[in-house]
Amino acid sequence: MPYEIFWPASRFLTIDFDSESNSEVEQLISCAGAKDNSLLLVVLSSGEKLVEPNTTKLAQQLGMQTEATNPFYYLGIVGRGSAGQAAAVYGASEGLRTLMIEREAPGGQAGTSSRIENYLVFPVGLSGRDLARRAVTQAKRFGVEILAPQEAIAIWQIDSR
Ligand SMILES: Cc1cc2nc3c(=O)[nH]c(=O)nc-3n(C[C@H](O)[C@H](O)[C@H](O)COP(=O)(O)OP(=O)(O)OC[C@H]3O[C@@H](n4cnc5c(N)ncnc54)[C@H](O)[C@@H]3O)c2cc1C
Repeated sequence: MPYEIFWPASRFLTIDFDSESNSEVEQLISCAGAKDNSLLLVVLSSGEKLVEPNTTKLAQQLGMQTEATNPFYYLGIVGRGSAGQAAAVYGASEGLRTLMIEREAPGGQAGTSSRIENYLVFPVGLSGRDLARRAVTQAKRFGVEILAPQEAIAIWQIDSR
């Protein structure tokens, strides 16, 4: 049976195995003190075991930011695809306090590409994952806050003046 795991800096990692016929998996599940059918099971490098964590809990444990630290931002960006990443870097580099929200995984569609050949200043191309990683380094250097996984569910105008 395939299982999908949220995986930062990539998309979803799909693992295909049958826990009943795989003794190593059975052992791991039993060592973690989880029930046979408790999947998703995540073992962190600290040794902590998370049995069926929700996506937000898992993201927090992996060091991802899921809550905004400020009540107000000058620039809010929905989506961390190519457009969002560029907007975040340009906005924040102009001094705007910037928040970017991504519901799935970094990099948007381009993040799934094994090789992007037409991105400016990368004459031999680069992978979508590499592009997303570089973009987050650059955005964070300008103080952009990136919330993931979080979904924007509404946008409204508070002051129409
Ligand atoms: C496999 C592949 C290879 C590609 N290769 C190339 C290439 O080599 N060269 C090229 O020029 N183009 C390429 N493209 C096209 C390129 O990826 C897209 O044109 C580009 O990603 C569009 O960027 P975008 O930011 O507008 O949208 P997207 O990349 O679609 O990003 C939108 C992001 O917003 C997030 N989002 C949407 N709604 C919400 C919400 N409500 N709350 C929070 N987050 C939300 C989504 O999860 C997504 O991450 C490729 C596309 C694919 C799929």
